[in-house]
Amino acid sequence: MTIPYYWSSVDWPRFVEDYPPPPAFTSAMAALSDDGLRALQDQRFRERVREAWDVPFYRDRWRAAGLEPGDVRGLDDITKIPTFTSEDVKESIEAEPPFGAHQNFALKAMATPLKIQSSGGTSGLPRPTLFDPVAWEGQAIQFARAFHAQGGEVGDILQITLTNSLANTAWCSSTAAMHWCGMVPLTTGSGVVTPSKRQLELAREWGTAGWVAFGEYMKILAETAAREGIDLRRDLTTKFIHTYLGVDVEGHLRKLLSDAWGCEVFDNYGTHEVGLVGFECRAHDSLHVNDDTAYLEIADRDTGAILGVGEPGNLVVTSLHRSVPPIIRYDLKDLMRTSARDTCGCGLRTTKLSGFLGRSDEMVKLRATSVYPRSAQDVVAGDARTTGEFLCIVETVGEGLASRERMRVQIETRGGHEAELQADMVTKLHTAFGVGVDVEIVPAGSLATHTGLGGEGKVKRLLDLR
Ligand SMILES: [Zn+2]
Repeated sequence: MTIPYYWSSVDWPRFVEDYPPPPAFTSAMAALSDDGLRALQDQRFRERVREAWDVPFYRDRWRAAGLEPGDVRGLDDITKIPTFTSEDVKESIEAEPPFGAHQNFALKAMATPLKIQSSGGTSGLPRPTLFDPVAWEGQAIQFARAFHAQGGEVGDILQITLTNSLANTAWCSSTAAMHWCGMVPLTTGSGVVTPSKRQLELAREWGTAGWVAFGEYMKILAETAAREGIDLRRDLTTKFIHTYLGVDVEGHLRKLLSDAWGCEVFDNYGTHEVGLVGFECRAHDSLHVNDDTAYLEIADRDTGAILGVGEPGNLVVTSLHRSVPPIIRYDLKDLMRTSARDTCGCGLRTTKLSGFLGRSDEMVKLRATSVYPRSAQDVVAGDARTTGEFLCIVETVGEGLASRERMRVQIETRGGHEAELQADMVTKLHTAFGVGVDVEIVPAGSLATHTGLGGEGKVKRLLDLR
C-alpha cells in the first residue's frame, strides 16, 4: 500500500482559504452576507450529503426513511433526513466492529493518514471517531479562532491542563496553538500527569498567558496556590482562561474563577465529533458559532420538531467540513438555544449559541417534572459555604405501589453551619428544579471519587441507581 503522507494529503492553500484561521476568519465572516453564508453552508452541505450516500450507515438509514439520492437538494430539504444519536453510533459499532458502518470505510481505504480519538464512555468501550487531516486541522482551526477571540497573541504560552489522550480537547488546543495562531503550547496534561503545584510553578517560571482547563480544575489550582503561598494575581501572568463552564446561567462559576485568577474567563462548547461548535469572545455575549464548519438546528426534546431562534432544545449538528466520517444531523442531546446572526462588538459576524443548559439524556422525571441535574450547578456554586461540588443521586425507594423515585443531592460543605446550609439548599433547589429533592451535606473532597473531579474528562453530576 502507498503511504498516505500528511504533508501531501491536503491542498493546504485551498484549505486555509476555505476555512480561514485567525485573523482572516473575522474579515471573511464580516464580508459574507447572510445570503452568502447560507449559500456557502448549502454548497458544503450538498457535498457532505453526496459523500454520505456512499457510507453504509447513512445510506441504510436514509433509504429506510424513504429517501433516494437526489431527494435532498440542499439545506431547505435538511429536515427530510433523519437525525441520529450516540445510541445509533453505538449500535453501528456493535453491528460492524471495530469502528462502525459510518467509518470503517476510511480505515479500509487508508487514502489519507488517520487518527483515532474517542468519547469518554461511561460504560463499555468508548465511542471511537476517526480523523483525517481535514477533520483534524479543521477542529484545530476552530480552536485557534477561539484563542484569538479570547485575547491569545503570537508568542503567548498556552498551558493545556488536559491530557493528550483518547479525548481530543488537548490535542485540538495544542495543534491550534502551534499550527494556526502562533501561540506556544505547554502540554502539562491534567493534575494526574503534572501535579497541581508543579503546574503553578511552571506557569510562574515560564510565563503562562492562557490556560485550557475545566472550570473545576482551575478551582483546584486556585486552592493549591493558596496553600502553597502562590499569589495568582501577583506571581502569575495569566491573561485568559479557556474553559467549559457547564450550566452557568447565573455566572457563579465564571465569577469565582475570574475573581480568583484576576483574568477573563471564556466559555466554550463542543464535542469530539463536531469539534468546537461555539466559543466566547471578549464581548462575553454568548458563544460565536463556527458557521462555516457547523450547521446548527435546535430540536424539540420530545417531538424532534425543529424550533425557532431563541427556543431551547436539543442541539442537532451537521459538520460542514468533515468527510471522515461525515456527521449529518447528529442529535447531541445537549440543551442549547441559538440566536440570529449579527455583528458582535468584537467584529465577528456569526450565529450565536447560548451556554450549555443541560443534558436531555440526563433528564430525570420526578413527580411528572423534568429535572436536569446539572442545573443545580448555579445554586451550589453560588453559595460560598459549599465547595461548589455536588452529585445528584436518583434511586427508587419503597416497593410495589409504594415505590417512588427520589433524588438526593449531595453537596460538599467547606465546614460549619451545616443545618442552615442544608435547609437553604432544599429551598433553592426546589426553585431551581421545580420539584422538591432531598439534600445531604457532605465533607469537602468526599465526592471526587464519584464525580471524577481532578481526573481526566468531564465531571459527572448524576448517579443513577435505579
Ligand atoms: Zn464577539
